[in-house]
Amino acid sequence: MDKISNYINGELNTPISGDYLDNTNPATGEVYSQIPDSDERDVNLAVAAAEKAFVKWSVSPAEQRAKTMMRIADLIEKNLDKLAMAESVDNGKPLALAKSVDIPRAASNFRFFATAIMQFASESHIMEQSAINYTLRNPIGVAGCISPWNLPLYLFSWKITPALATGNCVVAKPSEITPMTAYLLAELCIEAGLPPGVLNIVHGYGHKVGAAISEHPKIPIITFTGSTKTGADISQKASPLFKKLHLEMGGKNPNIIFADCNYDDMLETTLQSSFANQGQICLCGSRIFIERPLYDKFKNDFIARTKDLKVGDPLSENSNLGAVVSQPHLEKILSYMALAQKEGGTILCGGNRVKVNGRCENGWFVEPTVIENLPYDCRTNQEEIFGPVVTLMPFDSEEEVLVQANSTQYGLAATIWTENLTRAHRLANLLQCGIIWINCWMLRDLRTPFGGMKNSGLGREGGVEALRFFTEPKNVCVKL
Ligand code: NAD
Repeated sequence: MDKISNYINGELNTPISGDYLDNTNPATGEVYSQIPDSDERDVNLAVAAAEKAFVKWSVSPAEQRAKTMMRIADLIEKNLDKLAMAESVDNGKPLALAKSVDIPRAASNFRFFATAIMQFASESHIMEQSAINYTLRNPIGVAGCISPWNLPLYLFSWKITPALATGNCVVAKPSEITPMTAYLLAELCIEAGLPPGVLNIVHGYGHKVGAAISEHPKIPIITFTGSTKTGADISQKASPLFKKLHLEMGGKNPNIIFADCNYDDMLETTLQSSFANQGQICLCGSRIFIERPLYDKFKNDFIARTKDLKVGDPLSENSNLGAVVSQPHLEKILSYMALAQKEGGTILCGGNRVKVNGRCENGWFVEPTVIENLPYDCRTNQEEIFGPVVTLMPFDSEEEVLVQANSTQYGLAATIWTENLTRAHRLANLLQCGIIWINCWMLRDLRTPFGGMKNSGLGREGGVEALRFFTEPKNVCVKL
């Protein structure tokens, strides 16, 4: 059975405890590899290695750092098939999705920040006749990067690449539920000649490795993506140490559909924004608001299209949805379907676990599910389910839908479908979300600020926002 290693000081190593955790394939329910059950001792080693590496990496020319990162990007692309297969087996997502989205995006993350750092500039401010101020932007030190299971290599690389490009060294913790591609990335970093200690990857539980990163006095900056609950926990530990924090957390995103929308585009994209990656994307639009004149038509067409989706073996080209990530997560999703019914909701399609025959008979599959007749403020419509479950709600006016869309604790993303652009811009301005898509979904330009408001996030990733986050501004004032 495959045993995953930590990656500390440029080497693949066993955890100090000598203990391992089982890693399961969600499509078969079988344990297929083992991952280090690391603890704070491994984190201490990683921090020491990162501190040592920082001395040189932080002052190395940006061009040199960029070149190394480009080599890693090339290697990710060269190993596309292997990485995509590993991601699909580890996470349960369709292989085709891993191959077309997750892995190419990981390579893009490396390329994007390798080139962004070559263009990064800081400000200067002149006080006529008296002084010139200029701002230095220095790397901060050892950055802690903690990432989730839903887009494993995609988000892992999204967090570490701006940190590395700006000259920081990294102690990273991938999700213990999907550790495999981060481990394979470590092998590629060695092959690419990344200097030892610049990137360290410590595998294991959040309450051990993640907590040790949050509390470590020599990690002054942390970027985290995961649930709001964990974000609060990290914040509680890190804030008394005055760490710089960036948190990307949960969502319950509204998808607002007006009767005048481009119907075919909307229907096609709404299918994606509801069920892509089994609904396990923080940006999925799980609350669908439909203007009343369109409600019945949309409902009928959407149900028909949802029923056509095939749930099955992630390795099969015919599967639109693969397995959800774990048994506890499957149970959570099913419990929300039961709750929806208890709250008076009607399940229009789906609502059940799926038994897939053959090698996947013990896997964790669930039907894409559409629910209606629920008030906007019930628990099903307020809490993050993070599965292939959406609710439909009719609305009569812009004012009404705005109140309902903004009613949750979250504020990550919203989608608006209308051909009335004045209305679209008006709503975009009033929706309490960090990301608004008008007549599209998941169109990502890596230069744009990415992140949520309210309990969905603190700070922004992407482009210059990330480069600024990972650097310390220092003003220098020169008297003229
Ligand atoms: P999670 O919070 O359980 O885990 C995320 C990471 O934090 C994992 O690596 C985990 O081991 C670690 N962790 C857990 N407990 C910790 C602790 N006490 N201290 C430090 N680290 C700890 O989240 P998840 O279940 O892996 O991911 C799903 C969640 O992530 C959903 O809420 C989803 O909305 C969110 N998410 C948000 C975004 C975004 O951009 N806003 C993107 C993807 C996922």
